[in-house]
Amino acid sequence: MRYWKIFLIVTVLSVGLGLFSSYRMYGHKVETCEQCGISINPTFEVVFHLKDGTIKRYCCVNDALHAYREMADQVDWVAVTEQETGEKLNETNVIFVENDIVTCEPCGTRLHIFEAETHGGLFFEHRVDKYMKKFGGKIVDNPFLAAKKAFQEKQEKNQ
Ligand SMILES: [Zn+2]
Ligand SMILES: [Zn+2]
Repeated sequence: MRYWKIFLIVTVLSVGLGLFSSYRMYGHKVETCEQCGISINPTFEVVFHLKDGTIKRYCCVNDALHAYREMADQVDWVAVTEQETGEKLNETNVIFVENDIVTCEPCGTRLHIFEAETHGGLFFEHRVDKYMKKFGGKIVDNPFLAAKKAFQEKQEKNQ
């Protein structure tokens, strides 16, 4: 009878400890968007690596672009998420596809991100063409370029 009690206590303690440590590992991992404050869906996350070493996270390309127009000069590089592999890639190495499928509901974002062409166009054809054949859409220019230009024009005007 006594052993059962000890067994029960040990079980309860270890389950509790397990829950607590998984809460610590994952509970704090939910990042919120710097721009709108919603919890970030990792599939569409955009991350700014600033020149001063800090990191800023956004829920989607739209919100990241809003921020980029204000602070492009502070950003070292932008990491976007490949929506099929979940990989974080430099914004200059991806293809942006726009269609009617919303990726971030609160922002109404309709941009989809795919890794750019790699081996003789194979990657491009397999991933982007396959996606567009299935879901429609068109390839659009990298919106970060336009945002950077908008930022620079505003700087010039303010001088
Ligand atoms: Zn946001
Ligand atoms: Zn968003």
